[in-house]
Amino acid sequence: MKRIVLPGATIGVLGSGQLGRMLALEARRMGYRLHTLSPGVDTPTGQVADLEVSAEYDDIDAIRAFARGVDVMTFEFENVSTDAADAAAEIVEVRPSGAALHITQQRAREKAFLADRGYPVTPFAKAQSVDELAVGLGTVGLPAIVKTAAFGYDGKGQHRIDRIEDGERVWGLIGHQEAIIERVVDFTHEISVVAARGIDGQFAHYGAIENVHHNHILDLTVAPARVPAGIASEAVHLAHRVVDDLGYVGVLCVEFFVTADGRVLVNEIAPRPHNSGHFTIDACVTSQFEQQVRAVCGLSLGDTAQIKPAAMVNLLGDLWVNGEPDWAAALAVPDVKLHLYGKDEARVGRKMGHITALADSVDEAAAKALAARDVLC
Ligand code: AMP
Repeated sequence: MKRIVLPGATIGVLGSGQLGRMLALEARRMGYRLHTLSPGVDTPTGQVADLEVSAEYDDIDAIRAFARGVDVMTFEFENVSTDAADAAAEIVEVRPSGAALHITQQRAREKAFLADRGYPVTPFAKAQSVDELAVGLGTVGLPAIVKTAAFGYDGKGQHRIDRIEDGERVWGLIGHQEAIIERVVDFTHEISVVAARGIDGQFAHYGAIENVHHNHILDLTVAPARVPAGIASEAVHLAHRVVDDLGYVGVLCVEFFVTADGRVLVNEIAPRPHNSGHFTIDACVTSQFEQQVRAVCGLSLGDTAQIKPAAMVNLLGDLWVNGEPDWAAALAVPDVKLHLYGKDEARVGRKMGHITALADSVDEAAAKALAARDVLC
């Protein structure tokens, strides 16, 4: 199998959303070809890829055939089965590995990985039945958040519990499936670190990024984060440990809570480029997507230097309630960059695009990005 994959070769991506799209755009700029596989057609990635294959992620024959047509394989979302990753790995190099995917795609496994190695995390318990949920709520304490162990993202499958008697109702809401119970963290900031590790252990990061969520979905990112330098370097240090402990190759994001007493707690790990790193496309020498291409292809990691303070706002399907947003108005705001993902159906809560702004301070950048979004509808 090829350790280093040079421009001209083909990168295969399992998944076809906006992360794959932005990866494809960078890969093609660098002279690579990119193939995508997902159950969809005319997908955000497929629209800009060299080849779009439509197959289910558990169709192992289709995954094998896809793997034979590419020089290296990656994935752009974590809910690909490890069986699929393993089948592909028999044919072609898969980066990051199926083992890293296995740990990070299921909250219970990810929490155990973190807790066993002594990472700082919020008190948590596992529950596989309503009785275990009640016991877990007792040990973790209230208020708590119950999260489904598998297939959760953007707050999907998450419910807050303020009273012990709500346990049974929430167990029904999450569909009686394995869950993690976490104590609600009284945080002052949410931050993330987008980091990369190369095939020979080279490490790169974009510093601490500050994130504001709305309804559990990322709403606004500013970079650099408005936190003391010691907090930022602690977060970077933890992210470095995570990529080393996972023996990771590729871009990864670690999300953190910062508490009032200055603790940095790991919330979760995303084994791929991340929404909070989208600002890097417009603000950094090497974007998180170019970095993913470099890492996955076994090349040196690029310079992560940030040219100016930046802010990014997400554009959710909610903005379409009164029809197509007014793009011309947003683009009349000076210095903003519009990114749209080519999704035809605008559903509430669905990520349709984002706007990035650069300025002399993050506050100014945030004001610009928010102003551009405000005039959309
Ligand atoms: P997650 O999918 O776990 O990243 O959760 C999405 C968002 O929900 C987080 O970024 C927080 O804003 C919120 N959240 C999740 N878990 C907790 C927690 N234990 N305490 C407070 N807020 C949380």
